[in-house]
Amino acid sequence: SCTSSSSDSALSSESAPPSALGPFTVVLLGDNGVGKSALASIFAGASDSMGSECELYGGEVFEQTIIVDGERATVTLLDTWDSQDEGRWTQERCLQTGDAFIIVYSITDRSSFLRASDLRIQLRRERQGDHTPIVLVGNKCDLVRCREVSISEGRACASFFDCKFIETSAAMQHNVWPLFDGIIRQLRLRRDSVET
Ligand code: GDP
Ligand code: MG
Repeated sequence: SCTSSSSDSALSSESAPPSALGPFTVVLLGDNGVGKSALASIFAGASDSMGSECELYGGEVFEQTIIVDGERATVTLLDTWDSQDEGRWTQERCLQTGDAFIIVYSITDRSSFLRASDLRIQLRRERQGDHTPIVLVGNKCDLVRCREVSISEGRACASFFDCKFIETSAAMQHNVWPLFDGIIRQLRLRRDSVET
């Protein structure tokens, strides 16, 4: 059969609470150039695609089954966010689709950090009253000499907005799997609190 049930679930805006095994839909948000696609390609297992200039129209969707703490979880990762997108429909759809969100900025670009705060506020507005897991990610932490946003600023921003925080380097593959594992742990905590 050519029909894919995974894409259906990824696009459903009225999904049930995540089940034990997922699939969980996780959406990457953030300015252009901060490293969303680089993080997604590590998730997809394509570590040799770093530095690729090629961007498919409309972004990409990746599905992986991974084991975290001995338990299997299927994650659909959406790299479909376009910060230049003037048509609000796609952005709104992105914000309504996710079971969890990864808001990425570059530690070398203060404006992307400010944009991350805007996104957090936008997300809160779109998803009032639910406890959707959100992680704030300071990517490109390998570029120490170009740093414009300190770790403590990132941490303070995350605690102000009540979300998790991690610095990553997609280029060095540093903290990328801890990021995805952490998201899955948060989704499970939420699932468990929904069930009981
Ligand atoms: P996107 O627009 O958010 O999807 O960003 P991309 O993933 O396309 O990355 C933009 C540019 O930053 C590319 O040239 C990547 O190779 C580079 N890049 C992404 N992550 C890192 C990182 O952690 N460190 C460094 N040094 N460069 C990175
Ligand atoms: Mg991209």
